[in-house]
Amino acid sequence: MIIVMKPGTPREELDRVSQELKIFKLTTEEIVGKYKVVIALIGDTTSVTTQQVESISPFIEKVSRIEKPFKRTSREFRHGEASEVIVDTPNGLVSFGEHCPIVAVAGPCSVENEEMILETARSIKASGAKFLRGGAYKPRTSPYAFQGHGESALELLALARQETGLGIITEVMDTADLDKVVEVADVVQIGARNMHNFSLLKKVGAQPKPVLLKRGMSATIEEWLLAAEYILAAGNPNVILCERGVRSFDRQYTRNILDISAIPVLRSLTHLPIMVDPSHGTGKAELVPAMAKAAIVAGADALMIEVHPNPAKALSDGPQSLTPQGYAELMQEIDLVSQVIDRCPERYTFCDINKIQYLQNSVSIV
Ligand code: PEP
Ligand code: MN
Repeated sequence: MIIVMKPGTPREELDRVSQELKIFKLTTEEIVGKYKVVIALIGDTTSVTTQQVESISPFIEKVSRIEKPFKRTSREFRHGEASEVIVDTPNGLVSFGEHCPIVAVAGPCSVENEEMILETARSIKASGAKFLRGGAYKPRTSPYAFQGHGESALELLALARQETGLGIITEVMDTADLDKVVEVADVVQIGARNMHNFSLLKKVGAQPKPVLLKRGMSATIEEWLLAAEYILAAGNPNVILCERGVRSFDRQYTRNILDISAIPVLRSLTHLPIMVDPSHGTGKAELVPAMAKAAIVAGADALMIEVHPNPAKALSDGPQSLTPQGYAELMQEIDLVSQVIDRCPERYTFCDINKIQYLQNSVSIV
C-alpha cells in the first residue's frame, strides 16, 4: 500500500505516520522523491482498509494499493517518479536513469590478458564510454568452453580501472565469489542464466554495490521484475535492468530476439533505469549498430556493447564484438540519435541535483 504525503509535510508528522502504521505489524518504508514523500506499507495489506490509513493524518494526500505482484520495483512505489542509480567511479559520479544522459558501457565478453583489456579500456574511454565491462567468471553453455580467468581477471579489471578511471561492470555467478567481485566492481552483474538464482539475488541485495540485472533468456517481464524485487527487498535499491534478448527460434540469422518493446513496457511498469545489450541481443556484430540506435530511440537509458581489439581471435563472443574503430563510429551515431530524441540539457540539471544530494549524504555518512 502506498501513502502519498502532501508536499511540505513536516518531518515530525512523517515520523508520526510511520509510527502509527506500526499497529498493522507490517514493514514501512519512506521514499523521498523529488516532489513528494511516499510511505510504503509492505506485506499482506488485505485486512487494512485505505480509510483506516487515511484517518491517521490530515497530511495524507492519497492512499492506494499496488495491485501488481512486484511492489518495490513498480512505478507506483515511487509515485510515478523514476529512480536514479548513481555510481561512484574514479572519473566521477555517473547516473543511470530516465532523466539522465545515456550511459555507455563497453568491453570484451571476457578479460583475456592485460594487454587486450588495457587497450580496450583506453579505446572505449576515448569513444565516450563510462564503464568497462568484462567477464572474469563466464557462464558458458559447455563445461569444456573457456570459463574465464577468475581472480586474475578481476585483478586486471582493477588495473584497467586504475589506469583509465572507468567504472567496472563484471558478473558474479557464485555467492562464494561475491566478496571478491564486489571489491573490484562498481556495478555487479547478474547474468541472464542467473536471473532466477534467488539465493544469489538475495546476496547481491544485501551488499551495497549497484546491481545490473540481465533478463533471463526465457523470462517474462513480470518474472524479471520479480527477480529485481528480490534484490530491492533484500535492501539494495540500486538496480539497473538490462534487456539482452530472449530465446529465438531462428538461430541462423540472430542469436536472440532483442525485445525493444520491453523498453517502453518497463518504463510504464517500473521506476528502475533500463540498459540494453544489443551484442548478446543479436549475436552478430553487423546487427549491433542498428539495434543500439533502435534501443536509444525506444528510450533506453544505457547501452552495453561488446568490444574486442581483435574479434576474430576472441576467446568468447567474437562474432558479436565490435572493433574499437567500429565502436568509435557507433558512438558518434549514438550522439546524433540522442540529440534527435532530446535527452535534453535541463535533464542534466536534475541529475546534478541528485548527485549533489548523493555527495551530501556521503559526506554526512563519513
Ligand atoms: C555477458 O554479459 O557476458 C553475458 C554472458 O551475458 P548474458 O548473461 O546476457 O548472456
Ligand atoms: Mn558475451
